[in-house]
Amino acid sequence: MKKCSTCREVRSLDDFSKDRSRTDGRSYVCKSCQSISSKKYRTAHSDKINAQNRIYEQKAKKKIKNRKKAYYEKNKERILTRNRVWARANKKKAQDQQNKRARERSKTDPLYRLRKNIRTSMRRYLIRKQKKTSEIIGCSWLELWHHLCNSFEANYGMPRSWLEAFEYDIDHIIPIGSGSSVEELMRLGHFSNLQILLREDNQTKGVKLDYTL
Ligand SMILES: [Zn+2]
Repeated sequence: MKKCSTCREVRSLDDFSKDRSRTDGRSYVCKSCQSISSKKYRTAHSDKINAQNRIYEQKAKKKIKNRKKAYYEKNKERILTRNRVWARANKKKAQDQQNKRARERSKTDPLYRLRKNIRTSMRRYLIRKQKKTSEIIGCSWLELWHHLCNSFEANYGMPRSWLEAFEYDIDHIIPIGSGSSVEELMRLGHFSNLQILLREDNQTKGVKLDYTL
């Protein structure tokens, strides 16, 4: 039997948790007092505890990510082969997965969105078959993105970092619908004929929009 230093009640040793730093090997407060005080502590320090937990979580996530990455690097060939075999056997599922990944990436990567939408649009005008889209554009995708950001800055007098706050379209200054031959369409597809317009302006312009971003 032992007396709890908090509630002063005499209880059996089993009611005290083990504590090797004590001579009798048991804590000086009973289990129920201990649980009350630790609850109190958690409530009083919840911000600190939550912050700590978040740090632990992040560290753990990073660790898992690194471990996965290392595993992938080590087994790359085997994994890629396995994935290819799986994709061949599960064509529909594989396609769905790929589409889903593309949608996710579209949400976060403006350059990716740009490439995808311009390709789609080019395909609509059937000029892709003659030349690669990047050849028609006449510059790299990154250069095109910079060109478009510049046009946004010039048209609206706002820094490019503000662009993401708006809904915008890529607009053909001379509408691509006015091209009547493949050569003309290709000329109109050149990056120098492209600019960024905010969606509301593009709609009031009354022209069918070219690329939706
Ligand atoms: Zn107690």
